[in-house]
Amino acid sequence: MIKATNSDKIGTLYVVATPIGNLADISERAITTLSSVDLIAAEDTRHTAKLLSHFNIKAKTFALHDHNEKQKAQQVVDWLNEGLDIALVSDAGTPLISDPGYAVVNLCREQGAHVTPVPGACAAITALSCSGLPTDRFQFVGFTPAKSQARQQFFLDAYESGITSIMYESTHRIMASLDDLQTALGAQQRVVFAKELTKTYETFFSGSVAELIAFLTEESEKQRGELVLMLPGKPKQQEEIPADAKRMLTLLEPEMPLKKACGVVADYFGLKKNALYKDWIQQSS
Ligand code: SAM
Repeated sequence: MIKATNSDKIGTLYVVATPIGNLADISERAITTLSSVDLIAAEDTRHTAKLLSHFNIKAKTFALHDHNEKQKAQQVVDWLNEGLDIALVSDAGTPLISDPGYAVVNLCREQGAHVTPVPGACAAITALSCSGLPTDRFQFVGFTPAKSQARQQFFLDAYESGITSIMYESTHRIMASLDDLQTALGAQQRVVFAKELTKTYETFFSGSVAELIAFLTEESEKQRGELVLMLPGKPKQQEEIPADAKRMLTLLEPEMPLKKACGVVADYFGLKKNALYKDWIQQSS
């Protein structure tokens, strides 16, 4: 039985990110936090033991994984209320991101326990930052589904969202997934593949699905390792402005403010006022 030393103290749950390959990516705060907490909740205690040993951290760990976290969540909150500080880590990267921890953090929030992040690596964001795809709007969609038909729909939905999609994929499924991607969106669909991020054989590949399949087929070795797939979203189609609408706007614009003129023309032709306005500004600049 673990007891807090100061019974008035309320404990904190630290959600600590750990490296996704290169151990030098651990933060100073992560080391300090893991060294100072009373307990570490680890996805796999043996895996975390290696990390702790590398940094010479001595700490008590307990297992918190997908199969027990719902049962363990209340225990964790109780320990926090008793004043224990607890760190939550997964095998690699940011906990809760396709990793255990949601049930615990959710219960902490529901019951008013103190939760704070110790940020660091996350494969999704690491991959996106070097993908060359638009980063102004993006979505993380987790692992691709296991079944082929569901995967094709998943790729279609990702593309139709209109924004960059980041997805995790497992090494044994990558070729089947790329076949489905090709079926869903065509051989020329652009895709970015990021493998073994921060490790010795880190690889980025940006090209069409057909090119990526050819690249990975050259040597099966290239299919091994941890990987992230990213897809650009479907480009927005600009509304076509009819020539008559443009002529009417040219006549009205000197007589009234541009926005008002756009409103009148948009109403008359059943167009979007903003599309008209943008088109006018683009043409006159
Ligand atoms: N929580 C982790 C994070 O923050 O990225 C993700 C855990 S999830 C169980 C594992 C998946 O993340 C892998 O199958 C792979 O898709 C991706 N991943 C993790 N490390 C990676 C790396 N070094 N390079 C590429 N992908 C990685």
